[in-house]
Amino acid sequence: MPLAHIRPLSGYAVTVTRPSTARIALNRPLRRLFDYLIPDNLSVSPGQRVKVPFGRQILTGLVVETGVTPPGHVTLKPILDIHEPWPALPDTTFHLLSWASDYYQHPLGECLFTALPPALRKGRPSQRKQEVHWVASDASAAELPSNAHRQKQLLNTLQASPGLSTSELVQAGFTRSQLRALQDKALIHQADATTPAQTHSPTAAPPPKLSGAQTTAAEALPSSTNRFQAALLYGITGSGKTELYLHFLKQKLQEGQQALILVPEINLTPQTLARFRQYFGSRIVAWHSALSDGERLDTWLRIRNGEPVILIGTRSAVLLPFTNLRSIIVDEEHDSSYKQGDGFRYSARDVAVYRAHVNHCPVILGSATPSLESWHNARQGKYTLVRLEQRAGKAKPPEVSLLDIRSRPLEAGLSRPTLSAIRDTLNRGEQALVFVNRRGFAPIMMCFDCGHMEECPRCDTRLTYHRRDRAMRCHHCDFQKASSNHCPKCQSDNFKPVGQGTERTEDVLAEHFPETPVVRVDRDSTKRKGSIQSILEKVNSGAPCILVGTQMLAKGHDFPNVTLVAVVNADGGLFSVDFRAPEQMLQTLLQVSGRAGRGAKPGKVLIQTCHSDHPLLKALCHGNYAQLAEQLLADRKAGDLPPFRAMAVLRAESDTMQRSLQLLDSIKPMMAVEGIEIWGPLPAVIARKADRHRAQLIVCSNNRKRLNRVLSRLCQYLDQSKLPANTKWIIDVDPQETG
Ligand code: ADP
Ligand code: ZN
Ligand code: ZN
Repeated sequence: MPLAHIRPLSGYAVTVTRPSTARIALNRPLRRLFDYLIPDNLSVSPGQRVKVPFGRQILTGLVVETGVTPPGHVTLKPILDIHEPWPALPDTTFHLLSWASDYYQHPLGECLFTALPPALRKGRPSQRKQEVHWVASDASAAELPSNAHRQKQLLNTLQASPGLSTSELVQAGFTRSQLRALQDKALIHQADATTPAQTHSPTAAPPPKLSGAQTTAAEALPSSTNRFQAALLYGITGSGKTELYLHFLKQKLQEGQQALILVPEINLTPQTLARFRQYFGSRIVAWHSALSDGERLDTWLRIRNGEPVILIGTRSAVLLPFTNLRSIIVDEEHDSSYKQGDGFRYSARDVAVYRAHVNHCPVILGSATPSLESWHNARQGKYTLVRLEQRAGKAKPPEVSLLDIRSRPLEAGLSRPTLSAIRDTLNRGEQALVFVNRRGFAPIMMCFDCGHMEECPRCDTRLTYHRRDRAMRCHHCDFQKASSNHCPKCQSDNFKPVGQGTERTEDVLAEHFPETPVVRVDRDSTKRKGSIQSILEKVNSGAPCILVGTQMLAKGHDFPNVTLVAVVNADGGLFSVDFRAPEQMLQTLLQVSGRAGRGAKPGKVLIQTCHSDHPLLKALCHGNYAQLAEQLLADRKAGDLPPFRAMAVLRAESDTMQRSLQLLDSIKPMMAVEGIEIWGPLPAVIARKADRHRAQLIVCSNNRKRLNRVLSRLCQYLDQSKLPANTKWIIDVDPQETG
């Protein structure tokens, strides 16, 4: 169904005298646009998809401007055709992306194309495919055979969240044949997408009554959906931030309006999605990387079409062509996954705030551990700080203590007091969570006779031992090889794992607690589709178990029966060269601690460390992030670091370190401008990755505009200069990593 009813937006008023030329952006890493003639029979406006000849190819381009005067004496080729008569990118989205292109120094063409679904990028037609949505019928599950566990789960899922689509259910680990089986038994049926009742009347239980603290917080949130206002919702873990978001949207968002909720990773928090569906039914739409091209096109068209959806999505959702966006929420705003790590390196959180500006609508940034950037903005009065420092319901904040493990006997990294705390927890019929910051069995394999350590042949790193599949793997490139019991250098069998990974902790816990299920949650154990969902189901059943895992466990989960959190080693981030490391470490520790005691039973957190007198760890015990943030901000100010200054990193990589350093050295004089400070060039901490030698130059300024101008000039210069062979450069504005 074409979007026939989309009218040209005000910014695109059709000019009376038809412009005869158009400036077009292509999906190429080129910092330039291309001029074409507009044939008389075509009407073309900015944001529109067109077909243009490019060399011997025909490419899809996006119109940036019309009526431009091309540089003299060039013969322009004509645009061949338009894809559709309406602009794929409406004016606010277009403006947003142009701004982001300039801010992040990324070529406009690639930025604009990021906002299109893959099908439209490839030049396919904007035809909408109808997705099948499902609802449970009013029959009872008693008709299912007792061994049809998955069918029962599927039915329960649809009863709790009516309107899920086939692909969303497949994504959650169910199969099409399970759907067919339930449909044949008339236990479920296809939702009629055209029935408005289905779209807007969820079957949910009424929302919980907001607590006193929640009510106070709710009153401090933005009051109108018609003007820009940014709020930082600092709500401790378990304070019920999700409830506040729901309440805000229920109160403020009108029937026909669109809203956007950004989350770091959707698959890790199916509960959040289910909660939103309970309140808003099929008005809730999900956007994430696991969707198929067809699903993306479908959702993209609904958004572009102005349907009043509430979109819950990951990073790239912030770039979608909303036409009536009236509220933005960024959940877990501190999460580093909001920053794109390659290509167009934007921060979805920061783009969200700018988008709210452009749209004149409110934005709420929520976190128990706000980023120092947002905390600083709140202190300066740019954002309203809304504090919610009580847990919801009967839950109390957990009691956090440090356990000094210097000269304590450890068993695969676990001290006796930790093991006995786990035992006590299980004896009470409760669950324990053990946090380890490495996946695999052990981060090092070392020979105790000759001292040899297994290293990646392509990177300056050690190989991680993965015992489950007898492999040695590099976590920085795709190198792997079979593991061996002997030292490859001296053949000694005194070749042993050193340090802790999740697999090793899982093994030692399974040995200690043979009666209790030990569930490992890391990137390896959750690779299979639906595996995270079945793990979460198991934990949410409440039966005693031990969860072992990486930061995946720190992300927003609500496990009411977890009452103990043990952190195997807290010291990783304390002494890193990266200036963000302490902030990130404390955020992870507080988030993972926040999984303890979220239900009626009190929670306890044990943090094993060799630095129990470290002031940051001591402050962590009081669980007061506000205080920690103040302390960290003071350190940033003393070091003249962001958020007190703007920063960008220029990275170079090549076949040799010399070439990388040379390139950076050669551009350094170009940036020697007053008010710009340059550090480096220096080799990166992991100087060689996948056989590429990496160096970096850090650029800072008190004046963001000036930094932006210098960087723009630099990009233009680099684009036009001939680089040494096999050498690449990138710019990262507001970098998350500076190692
Ligand atoms: P956060 O995201 O702030 O860590 P959640 O939104 O996950 O916290 O809420 C934590 C728990 O508290 C959830 O189980 C939620 O259902 C419950 N909860 C939230 N608000 C209330 C309330 N007003 N009354 C009772 N329970 C609540
Ligand atoms: Zn050896
Ligand atoms: Zn490697």
